[in-house]
Amino acid sequence: MSLKVYNTLSRKKEEFIPVIDKKVRMYVCGPTVYNYISIGNARPVIVFNMVRNYLEHTGYNVEFVQNITDIEDKIINKANEEGVDFNDITSKYIQAFLEDLENLEIGRFSAMPKATEMIKDIIEIIQRIIDNGHGYVAGGDVYFDVLKFNNYGKLSGQKKEEMMAQESGQFSKKNNIDFTLWKSAKPGEPSWDSPWGQGRPGWHIECSAMSMKYLDFKLDIHGGGIDLVFPHHENEIAQSEAAFPDKGDFVKYWMHNGMIEVKDEKMSKSKGLKSDWILKNLLKKHSPDVIKIYMLSTHYRSPLEFSAEKLEEARKALEKISNFLRNAEFLSSIENLKPVSSGINELTDIKSDFEPDSPSVKIYEYVKYFKEEFKNAMDDDFNSAKATGILFDFIGNVNSIIQSPEFKITETVARSLKISSGIVLSHLKIFGINLDKSRQSLKAGNDKRISLDDAEILELIEQRLYARKQRDFKKADRIRDRLKSFGVILEDRKEGTIWKREE
Ligand SMILES: [Zn+2]
Repeated sequence: MSLKVYNTLSRKKEEFIPVIDKKVRMYVCGPTVYNYISIGNARPVIVFNMVRNYLEHTGYNVEFVQNITDIEDKIINKANEEGVDFNDITSKYIQAFLEDLENLEIGRFSAMPKATEMIKDIIEIIQRIIDNGHGYVAGGDVYFDVLKFNNYGKLSGQKKEEMMAQESGQFSKKNNIDFTLWKSAKPGEPSWDSPWGQGRPGWHIECSAMSMKYLDFKLDIHGGGIDLVFPHHENEIAQSEAAFPDKGDFVKYWMHNGMIEVKDEKMSKSKGLKSDWILKNLLKKHSPDVIKIYMLSTHYRSPLEFSAEKLEEARKALEKISNFLRNAEFLSSIENLKPVSSGINELTDIKSDFEPDSPSVKIYEYVKYFKEEFKNAMDDDFNSAKATGILFDFIGNVNSIIQSPEFKITETVARSLKISSGIVLSHLKIFGINLDKSRQSLKAGNDKRISLDDAEILELIEQRLYARKQRDFKKADRIRDRLKSFGVILEDRKEGTIWKREE
């Protein structure tokens, strides 16, 4: 099966064929920096990071640009409220956003342009729109003449006539559905020189200018939250296609993530954020991997419920994966194995040990099935929710082999377990989850039961083994109980003592 992507423009899933073979040019709208970003703003960040990772995993070379809106009414309002320069607001929240990205372990962008650095390019594209007869100047502002653009409404399905009938408070423009490309500056507002006087860009125009500059015309993927379809993305189409009328569609595939919902409320920065919706605060309590698995366990287009329970479910899910990896690696390190990297080629080793019902052959079948089904799920419009389910089925199947009474470790079984843990790790990387690196410091958030790290647990297990060798069983039991009070469960096996965290 080849990759299919749901295109908001056609309202159906389409086969994914980029404009240029093997290359994907992707643009996602970033935040307006007048506040800390919320868990809602983090969704497109995590979703489109997964999209990029999966495209790279399947062999595409991806260029990924995300903008930062650092001039906008909300920023100016906030600066006025606080009595500071708008730059003080934007530099503070840009810094906070970059720190959030770092804490989320997401940071590979081909470019991350800011609107205020693009003024020259923005003026050029506005001039093109005016020259092509799609823009006009009125009262020092420049407007886009919506009635002159035939395809207006093609993305959102809005009808011009219905929009025309709505009331509008703006009188200088020709029609109430016309939108601003350039705003004249009021005294004291930040402004730049332009052919139309001192002013600043409207919100929508920066994305047309930036995508054109950094990725060229006809993007493969343009992404953002579903709340941006209208008017922002509808206006981006109008601007870009009016500026470059001979180049066809501005974007091939429009992708939109669903909103995050807190019971019946919509999460919105402009209505005021509760402190536990702020990503920065959430990252103090939860590892970035917990937040990623929470988000990606739901399909990106579906609404996502936000609650402490949902995050706790995600933590347990991650713990299950972590326990599996630790035990698979422990058991596979018992035999004196040559180092094995993960990958399909290694599977032939297991095939050669052909006994139809042997554990290694069973694990081989599970690995093969997992890889195929994970790919099928992701090829179906990046269905990470389904792919996550397939991952847990795989872990459950291999666990049931490890836990069966007749299980015995042999070199081929050890090798197959090593491959299993490698395959889980490499597929988690598509979700941006790097358990390989973070497992040692996997924190269980604010959950007090678990405050021992892996090294401390191993130390206590060693002390318990020593106590048992000395036949000091009381001490050994005390250590076991102590570990249990931290949610760490020991299992004494003939191969040694393995442990897991309560899930
Ligand atoms: Zn945008």
